[in-house]
Amino acid sequence: MLTGIGNMAWLGAATLFILSLRGLSHPASARRGNLYGVAGMTIAVLATLLVTAGAGLQIAIVAAVVGGGVGAVLARRVEMTQMPQLVAVLHSFVGLAATLIGFANFLAPSGPAIGVERAIHDTEIYVGAFIGTITFSGSIVAFLKLQGTLGGKPLVLPARHAMNAIALAVCVVLGYRFVAVPDAPQALYALIAMCVIAAALGVHLVMAIGGADMPVVVSMLNSYSGWAAAATGFMLDNDLLVTTGALVGSSGAILSYIMCRAMNRGFVSVILGGFGAATSTSSAAPQGEVVATSVDEVSALLRDAAEVVIVPGYGMAVAQAQGTISEITRRLRAAGVRVRFGIHPVAGRLPGHMNVLLAEAKVPYDIVLEMDEINEDFTSTDVVLVIGANDIVNPGAQEDAGSPIAGMPVLEVWKARTVVVSKRSMATGYAGVDNPLFYKENTRMLFGDAKGSVDALLRQLETA
Ligand code: NDP
Repeated sequence: MLTGIGNMAWLGAATLFILSLRGLSHPASARRGNLYGVAGMTIAVLATLLVTAGAGLQIAIVAAVVGGGVGAVLARRVEMTQMPQLVAVLHSFVGLAATLIGFANFLAPSGPAIGVERAIHDTEIYVGAFIGTITFSGSIVAFLKLQGTLGGKPLVLPARHAMNAIALAVCVVLGYRFVAVPDAPQALYALIAMCVIAAALGVHLVMAIGGADMPVVVSMLNSYSGWAAAATGFMLDNDLLVTTGALVGSSGAILSYIMCRAMNRGFVSVILGGFGAATSTSSAAPQGEVVATSVDEVSALLRDAAEVVIVPGYGMAVAQAQGTISEITRRLRAAGVRVRFGIHPVAGRLPGHMNVLLAEAKVPYDIVLEMDEINEDFTSTDVVLVIGANDIVNPGAQEDAGSPIAGMPVLEVWKARTVVVSKRSMATGYAGVDNPLFYKENTRMLFGDAKGSVDALLRQLETA
């Protein structure tokens, strides 16, 4: 009876997760997608507790209440700009859980499996702990990089590919020992040794990836965490966990592919790392003069324009300027100015970061365009307003073959008649690269916190 209810519940939960993913693929349906996900997860947790916890039900409920409570407090406290770090930490938890469940399964096996069955189960434990440990240590490094505790420069050790290959080969040999001699303490030693090597591998793999390629790392670790969960599902014989893990794993892999395409990088070359290391020509300082502007001047430029494109970046998220920008947009459109937004796929610190903020600020979806949709229109644009963006509008990606971001497609804002850049200083963006855009003849720098600048701009537009 309970198994029947469990199967029904798991099927329902898996269906809701698929609907959730579908909903999350567009800003207009994202809220609904989220609700599907919450409903699916609630059903999944309740059904799992009911069907599988048995005598451990009380402990499981206490753990779920404590874990859920901590999660709720964290989610309420975290700033939108800290979301990427939170996501990285959550990925690390999934990885750690897979590893710990692997150990628990090995030390206290649930059934007397023998022969091939046992070998398969031990392989599941080993692979689950391997993926889990790489996910765990890699996510911790990603967290530290996103937090700014570790720099964005890639760690390029000599013979690093050989080191990775040797580590992998040793893990395979240890895996053979683990499965072939499952009872002896050697098996436990092999499992522990593999985890130490896998942890070092996870650290090394993420340390080798440069700042500009971090979006791929975030989505890749998302994918790994899904596979780690799927492996846990195999260990625990839990079909729902296998399905859900596979959904997360494959959607994360697809996202990584999309991010790689957006950045014009090969997936394998990103994984192997090394991009973002300075080369001989990348250190050349940009030439030209920096021209500062004022709110008055920008307000006049905007009022006289027919075509305006707003390009938001990470600084808009930091300043929380999206609400005022939405109001400026409404006002300009009411005055007959055509206003659109240009969104780079890796703008901000999370895939879809800018879309979420603009949706939150009620900017209509139909004027928010992808990079490919707007790039050709800059030549006929009067004013581009760059709000706290840097790397995604850096012409050096096209002009300087030695730049760490060389080859990454960027929003070609410099082709517009006038470009106004709102940021606080001449500081570099996440990739740590100087931006020649700030020195171009048609660029005007509006220095100051983006929220302060756009608030003043809105007041000016209202009184004009
Ligand atoms: P950048 O990090 O390149 O630039 C952001 C700019 O915002 C900075 O130069 C900063 O300049 C400015 N800024 C910060 N705070 C404020 C503020 N309060 N007011 C005004 N300006 C501010 O961001 P982009 O969005 O242009 O590019 C994203 C970068 O992040 C890319 O390199 C991408 O690869 C990377 N990344 C993206 C991820 C994703 O999934 N989207 C994940 C991880 C990394 P100043 O200090 O002078 O104000």
